Amino acid sequence: MLRPALRAVKPLRASAVAPRARTFTSTRHVRNEGPSLNSLDTFSDEEQMLRESVQRFATDIVGPKVREMDEKEQMDPTVVKGLFEQGLMGIETSAEHGGAESSFTSAIIAIEELAKVDPSVSVMCDVHNTLVNTIFRKYATKEQQDKWLPQLSENKLGSFCLSESASGSDAFALQTRAKKDGDHWIINGSKMWITNSYEAEIFLIFANIDPSKGYKGITCFVATKDMGIQIAKKEQKLGIRASSTCTLNFDDLKVPAANVIGGEGLGYKLAIEILNEGRIGIAAQMLGLAQGAFNAAVPYTYSRSQFGQPVGTFQGMAFQIAQAAIDIETARLLTYNAARRKEEGKSFTKEAAMAKYWSSVIAQRVSGQAIEWTGGVGFTRETGIEKFWRDSKIGAIYEGTSNIQLQTIAKFIQKEYS
Ligand SMILES: Cc1cc2nc3c(=O)[nH]c(=O)nc-3n(C[C@H](O)[C@H](O)[C@H](O)COP(=O)(O)OP(=O)(O)OC[C@H]3O[C@@H](n4cnc5c(N)ncnc54)[C@H](O)[C@@H]3O)c2cc1C
Repeated sequence: MLRPALRAVKPLRASAVAPRARTFTSTRHVRNEGPSLNSLDTFSDEEQMLRESVQRFATDIVGPKVREMDEKEQMDPTVVKGLFEQGLMGIETSAEHGGAESSFTSAIIAIEELAKVDPSVSVMCDVHNTLVNTIFRKYATKEQQDKWLPQLSENKLGSFCLSESASGSDAFALQTRAKKDGDHWIINGSKMWITNSYEAEIFLIFANIDPSKGYKGITCFVATKDMGIQIAKKEQKLGIRASSTCTLNFDDLKVPAANVIGGEGLGYKLAIEILNEGRIGIAAQMLGLAQGAFNAAVPYTYSRSQFGQPVGTFQGMAFQIAQAAIDIETARLLTYNAARRKEEGKSFTKEAAMAKYWSSVIAQRVSGQAIEWTGGVGFTRETGIEKFWRDSKIGAIYEGTSNIQLQTIAKFIQKEYS
């Protein structure tokens, strides 16, 4: 019987770990006098326990289903159920709302560990936690939190619906409209590329209530599937095939006035802020993916001999492996740095963009090399190594393409240097 990942560490959270400064100051580590300057991979006991529990869940429960889910392009319902049972779908949510009340870094660790085994399961957990739950935690009223967060912690999957066919990078050009009708809003339009949407029951929908105000008319609404959200198409994809990505239609979707989240016309602000955080989640997904590919391929290079010696010991191979280990370490440092800065209340937009950009680059590079290191074996679907490479491509696309990350970083540099 598997121990629930976060449910198991709950007792540590309440009074035992007060105040909740669980960042660089774990008591497990001896510190010199003066300010603490621990390494970036210093974790609290709670975070470390979480990592180990998620590793067990990923290996024992997710691992055996990865290939079948990929081939069928379908998430196994027992995996979704398992994520909820493990307490991994309300990581930062308060205990009052059924969550684990843990740190942002805990969410990042869970996303990373899941991606080592299956990036599809990882992104399901990521979108649900870092986008959907966070919007409720940060911007919803107390009444809205009381209503929605317990469901999102317990068993209802969430989706974040911003992109449309004509508005991707230029997200605020969205065409979905909402009109007030008494004590309801009527939403018309459609969304494209929506993660989790095939299995989800709770949807955060961005629609414009007053196009004359441009992006300042964008408003965030919460709706449930049974209100009449239609799945128009489920995409067939190159990678993360078990993660559902659908086009959704809203045809006079009637949403109660009380379902506006964060205020009328403030959806743009909410989306920008939330995607800045979410990017650290994608960085963690890509970091885990790179490590997963590395872990799958490197042992093989020491067991496979050619010309009388293990192939991993030829200098041409050994140096590539060493270089890949450095690549992964740099992505890890960037990702944890962005996460810790967020927790410490420091600015983190530039750091999040750097982490997301770089983790995507190295995920693609390392997973591609992993195929080469394992030769013909790595090219077959049996080993799962080629899947990491297919899954890596999405890192450079969703939650802001690599060009958009570079644009963000460049704007900061220009501000700092001009
Ligand atoms: C599998 C998957 C899951 C997704 N999940 C979600 C989700 O859950 N919710 C959601 O709302 N959206 C989701 N998306 C949408 C995703 O965020 C967008 O695909 C992404 O923002 C890019 O938009 P686009 O596809 O329209 O590409 P475009 O914006 O058309 O970009 C095409 C190319 O042009 C480049 N480009 C665009 N503008 C600039 C510029 N100013 N400067 C330089 N280059 C530029 C891009 O970098 C890219 O290379 C998902 C997408 C995919 C594929």
